[in-house]
Amino acid sequence: MTFPFDALSACCADLEAEASANDPQAAFPAEGIARLRKLGVLSVTLPETLGGRGSGTGHRGGMELLQLLQLVGQGSLALGRIVEGHINAIRLIACYGTADQLARAAMDVHDGALFGVWVTDGASPLRMEHSDGGIRLQGEKLFASGVHHVTRALVTARTRADTTYMLLVPLDGTRTVSPAFGGLAGMRGAGTGRCDFSATRLPPDAMIGQEGDYLRQPEFSAGAWRGMAVALGGIARLTSLLRLQLVERGRAESPAQQARIGRALIAAESAYLWTRKAALTAAVQDRYDVDEVAATVNLARIAVERAGLDVLELVQRGLGLSAFTRANVVERLVRDLATYLRQPAPDETLCEAAAWFTHHDLPRPEDMS
Ligand SMILES: Cc1cc2nc3c(=O)[nH]c(=O)nc-3n(C[C@H](O)[C@H](O)[C@H](O)COP(=O)(O)OP(=O)(O)OC[C@H]3O[C@@H](n4cnc5c(N)ncnc54)[C@H](O)[C@@H]3O)c2cc1C
Repeated sequence: MTFPFDALSACCADLEAEASANDPQAAFPAEGIARLRKLGVLSVTLPETLGGRGSGTGHRGGMELLQLLQLVGQGSLALGRIVEGHINAIRLIACYGTADQLARAAMDVHDGALFGVWVTDGASPLRMEHSDGGIRLQGEKLFASGVHHVTRALVTARTRADTTYMLLVPLDGTRTVSPAFGGLAGMRGAGTGRCDFSATRLPPDAMIGQEGDYLRQPEFSAGAWRGMAVALGGIARLTSLLRLQLVERGRAESPAQQARIGRALIAAESAYLWTRKAALTAAVQDRYDVDEVAATVNLARIAVERAGLDVLELVQRGLGLSAFTRANVVERLVRDLATYLRQPAPDETLCEAAAWFTHHDLPRPEDMS
C-alpha cells in the first residue's frame, strides 16, 4: 500500500470540516477536490503509461483503490461520490474506448478535468440522433453529481431504435442545470442535479464503445463495488463517532451500549469484508462466469446497504437526540449515509443474486494466492 495514504488520512479531518461547513448551502467541496487532485487521487486509475497508477484498471487490482475510496468517504461521502464517478468514467473509457480516447481523457485529467457518469433518466430521457455527420442530443439526466463542476460527462443516450450508447460530453457551463427536485436531504455537497442536454451537438468520436456496452456484464454490476467502498468510509466514521461520543458522555460501559458498539463494529467489518470480496471478484472476473461476478457484487451491495442501515439505527438509538442536533457532525453524517445508501433497484439486485446462488456456491477469491 504505497499510495500516499498517510497524506490522505491526514486530510480526512479537513475534508469532514469542509463538508460540514458546506452542508447548509449545499456548496461543492472545491478545496477538498483540489487537495485530492494534488495528491494524485484523480489520476490513480489511469494506466501507468499515461501518468497514473493503474489502480482498478491495471495489475494493481482493486485493493489500493478500495482503501483510497474508503478514506475519501470517511472524510466526506459527498466528495467520495464525486471521486467515484470520476474514476468510474475513466474505467469505462479504459474498458470500452479506443486508445486515442483514453489518451485524450488522460491529458484532460492532467489538465484538471473532472469526469462524471450521468446515466439516470427521468421523464425526458436523453436521446441521440445522427445528423450532419455528428450526433444531436435531446433530453436530460437526473441526479447528476457535480452538475455544476464536472467538465466531462459520460452519459448514456438512446437511439430511435432503442439501443443505448455511451457518449463523452465536454461541458462548458452553458447547459441548463437545476437542483435535484429542490435539493436532497443528504449528500448536499455532491452538487447533484438535473442537466438538460437539448440541442447539444457532438462529433462522432464522442461515442465510447459500441451499442449496449454500458449495460454489458459483468462490468455493469461489478463496478458497484467502488460505490460500496465509499459507503464503507461513512459507516466506519459513524461507528467511530458512536464509540467516541458514548465514552465522552460516560455512557459506554452500560451493557446495552456495549452491545450497540459490538453490533456496529460487526456491521462495519461485515461491510468491509463484503466489499473486499466484491473488489477481488471483480479484479479476477475472467476466472468466473459472468453471472457469478454480477451476482457476487450484487449480493455484496445489499450486504453493505444492510450494514449501513444497521449502523444508522445503532447510532441514532445509542446517542439519542444528540444525534439529531445540528451541532453534532453525526446529524449530517446520518443524512449523508442514509441518502448515499439509496442505490438503484435494490429489490431486483437481491432477488437476482439470490436466484443465482440458489444453485451455485459463493466464489472465494479471498483464498486465491
Ligand atoms: C447522492 C446521489 C448522487 C447520485 N449521483 C448520480 C450520478 O452522478 N449519476 C447518475 O446517473 N445517478 C446518480 N444518482 C442516482 C442513482 O444512481 C440512482 O438512480 C438512485 O440513487 C436510485 O435511487 P432510488 O431509491 O430512487 O431507486 P429505485 O430503483 O427507484 O428504488 C426505489 C425502490 O423501488 C423499488 N423498485 C425499483 N424499480 C421498481 C419497479 N419497477 N417496480 C417496483 N418497485 C421498484 C426498489 O427496489 C426500491 O425499493 C445519485 C443518487 C444519489 C443519492
